[in-house]
Amino acid sequence: MNTAQALPAYQWPPSNERLAAQVGLDPRAIIRFDGNVPAAPAPVARPSTVAAALAEINEYDRGRYEPLRAAIAHRHGVDLASVALGAGSDEFIVLLARLFATGGTVATVPANSYSMYRFAAAMAGAHMVEDPATADLVFVCRPNNPTGELPDVPDVAGQVVIDEAYADYAGVDALDRLASGAIVLRTFSKAYGLAGARVGYALARPDLVEVITSHQAPLSVSSVSAALALAALATPLDVSAQVAERERLATELRGLGLVPLPSHTNFLFIPMEDPQQLVDALLPAGVVLRAFAGGLRISVRDTLDDDVLLEAIRGWRSGADLASPWTRRRRATAETRFLVRLRVRGEGRVLVESGEGFYDHMLQQLAFHAGWDLRVDGVGDLETGDHHTVEDMMRTVGAALDDALGDRRGLARYGEARVPMDEALAHAVVDLSGRPVAQLSIDPDPGMAAHALESFVQTARLTLHVTATGANAHHVAEASFKAVGRALAVALRQVGTQVASTKGSL
Ligand code: PMP
Repeated sequence: MNTAQALPAYQWPPSNERLAAQVGLDPRAIIRFDGNVPAAPAPVARPSTVAAALAEINEYDRGRYEPLRAAIAHRHGVDLASVALGAGSDEFIVLLARLFATGGTVATVPANSYSMYRFAAAMAGAHMVEDPATADLVFVCRPNNPTGELPDVPDVAGQVVIDEAYADYAGVDALDRLASGAIVLRTFSKAYGLAGARVGYALARPDLVEVITSHQAPLSVSSVSAALALAALATPLDVSAQVAERERLATELRGLGLVPLPSHTNFLFIPMEDPQQLVDALLPAGVVLRAFAGGLRISVRDTLDDDVLLEAIRGWRSGADLASPWTRRRRATAETRFLVRLRVRGEGRVLVESGEGFYDHMLQQLAFHAGWDLRVDGVGDLETGDHHTVEDMMRTVGAALDDALGDRRGLARYGEARVPMDEALAHAVVDLSGRPVAQLSIDPDPGMAAHALESFVQTARLTLHVTATGANAHHVAEASFKAVGRALAVALRQVGTQVASTKGSL
């Protein structure tokens, strides 16, 4: 056996593609409740945020991202010399075990904690011990992964590392321990929604930061990631929506007889004897959970994703079909990024957030009158005008509709509606033809109404005729989008099992 084979192996979770293949799903239907990350990227995750870094991507940053380190120091009220950057806080966990426990002993607080500590100890040839008082190195996971509890930091002789990956949700930190030699680890992966950027940091006394940085791989954070992290710090962090959603999910789970422990994080831990049973049972719904010794851990995502989880649990209990009724579509270009979640047979629960208020409102009208549930999260380069944002949003929604309709079997196919709005009147006729054709006369058009509908038609692969007139452009556009929604509601009715075409396909 060579040396590498003798070392411990870290087990990374399977990909969406692999999990989907196990249960015959489209990988896009997979929702990860096993990563403790938010449902959508941070708003700063846009090409313009990293443009300046790309312009100098051929260079090393000789200042080791001083503006980012300064912003972190400012956030926590510490000196610049107290901050070290790393490729995720995982980099520090592995490094600190080698620096402080090679051949020695490691303890964790609490005992049931993040698996990376054990891996780091093994990589350093160290032994795990129960009693923190006797360990060379003590990892305190505060709040703790996977249980969500907030342990006390022990007073011990060994090197103390306080892993605060989830402290943003707890609203408490242990920075008062820095002076006595503790090292605090933080990350942009969780509350900041930047896990893919891989940026973490250590806060410590300058002499300890010197020890850490002089043993790290040089400049392990990329300049692109550093730019994202710096931009994220420009806005004060607000986790209140996530915390409220965590409590809502906990209440709903309790209603299903699953009792989570109180949590100070963005996940819930439910003690149970055979958590793997539930993990396996919910995978056919696209829901990915994680089993631990003694319980199940569920990441809190957002209302809509969490409702998919709750529905899957109810479905599993009642023996119903677990296939999720939601279609998920992502689209990203240099100009915009969108995540669309659509349920054609919905209850009119609609939330559209692209930042372009007027067309968000128009799309909400269309979706509501079509009877859909629709959630659109996205950002675009609004500094160049509304064109890219509106077009890409409508294209992504159209693509989601096309996905949701599958082979269009059993659908009514044709639909028509007339909708007035005060002095304006719109007439819309739709054919789920499979052929993208838009014949639109919207007069006066407030700007992008016709183009928005045309973009939708292109990816939804349908024929749309709209004639709309009036005096007020807002009214004319709104009547048009409502009429299209109403016409779609008619065309999308399930009326049989045949494809409504003599060709046999749409
Ligand atoms: N610490 C804890 C307790 C964690 O749960 C995680 C992520 N799973 C990390 C550290 C690592 O985070 P990252 O490397 O993405 O900063």
